[in-house]
Amino acid sequence: MKILSADFVLPISGEPIEKGAVVFEKDKLVAVGKRAEIIEKFTEADREDFGEAVILPGFVNAHSHLEITAMRGFVDEFDDDFTSWLLTLTKVRGEILTDEDVQNAAILGAIEGAHAGVTCFGDIGRFGKNGFEALKAVGLRGVVFQETEFSPDGAAAQSDFEKLIEKFLKLKETETELVKMGLSPHSPYTVSARLFEKIAEFAIADRVKITIHAAESAEERELMENGTGFFAALYQKCRFEWKNPRCSSLEFLDSLGVLRAKPLLAHCVKVSDRDIELIKKTGSRVAHCPKSNAKFGHGIAPFEKFLDAPVGVGFGSDSMASNNICDILEEARFATLFARNLPARKRFLHAREMIETATLGGARALGLENEIVSLEAGKQADLAIISLGNIAQIPVHDVYSALLFATNARDVRLTIVAGEEIYRDGRATKIDEREIKVKMQEIRRKMK
Ligand SMILES: [Zn+2]
Repeated sequence: MKILSADFVLPISGEPIEKGAVVFEKDKLVAVGKRAEIIEKFTEADREDFGEAVILPGFVNAHSHLEITAMRGFVDEFDDDFTSWLLTLTKVRGEILTDEDVQNAAILGAIEGAHAGVTCFGDIGRFGKNGFEALKAVGLRGVVFQETEFSPDGAAAQSDFEKLIEKFLKLKETETELVKMGLSPHSPYTVSARLFEKIAEFAIADRVKITIHAAESAEERELMENGTGFFAALYQKCRFEWKNPRCSSLEFLDSLGVLRAKPLLAHCVKVSDRDIELIKKTGSRVAHCPKSNAKFGHGIAPFEKFLDAPVGVGFGSDSMASNNICDILEEARFATLFARNLPARKRFLHAREMIETATLGGARALGLENEIVSLEAGKQADLAIISLGNIAQIPVHDVYSALLFATNARDVRLTIVAGEEIYRDGRATKIDEREIKVKMQEIRRKMK
């Protein structure tokens, strides 16, 4: 049994506790409260006090692609041309990098998450296995979504489906308590209607979590609603069995029954009020990726409307190629500033709800809110301990505000998943960081 204490504890499910403490045994929280009372009650437990710091549930990164971490800064020159960006990245991942390279880069991305106080990932992988193994190696929790290949041709739906499920089932055999598998039909413009239907049926019958990139860009909207643009021309040229839906991405997914599987929808930048109503009505959820959206110039998602609908919404960093860091506090900060600065805003977003979105919101987005990310007896001991004593943070008048506006990933001191330390004071604890850093230099030379 172990007691951790600090100047502040943020249970998320309740009010902040000054001079607070948490107690956990093995993977579960036993009690949360005032430090003095906890120490008096649990006299046998080991103790550690972090002083000028805050203990809160770990952050959830609801949308990432760990397997392309090696692309950090590599495709930035294509940021203004999303199609070229996607094609270059796919080519390099498939043709230049070996499986070992992709694996090491994915581990680096997972280590970066641990450094940033992230305890749980919703990770998408074309290869699946690399993100899956990376989370396991670093000691993180997560759901890894096996992604479809480029599969817009309805005529190939059955064989595309069989290949996808084979990969998924193989990885599912090695699931752990912490890391589970899901499925990701990539997007409404790269997956045929028939394949979408098959995946949705499978997901509903077997209670499999799914995630989809949806309503991300103007190009996607152009294809879905008008049947024009790069992909429309490509599909015509290749004579793919592809029918132009002539509706929004959300209406398209709804018409195929995909929303009945309550998918986690990443981005949702180009969504109407009617689309948000569909998300809410079906219990689908959203991964809000404000920095990735802004880096591509895709626009500002109606985040305030997601919160007020309400729909389950968490933050996602997206890949290191499109961000280029994993810092959920920074996502929360950008989300707040963008939303506050919109001329059409209805209200002002506050720091407390942003920290809730970065933690519990992410757990809701991944359907894990009953297990993690609020500090209550019986829940999993997934914690981040963050310093509040740096010059740029003091004085701390309001702990939520200090976290949202004056703190970043580099202030994290300790990250714990299921009661196990995975990061402390600058180093991941379950894996040799130096070895991975050397491998990254080799990968950089190869990509040059
Ligand atoms: Zn993505």
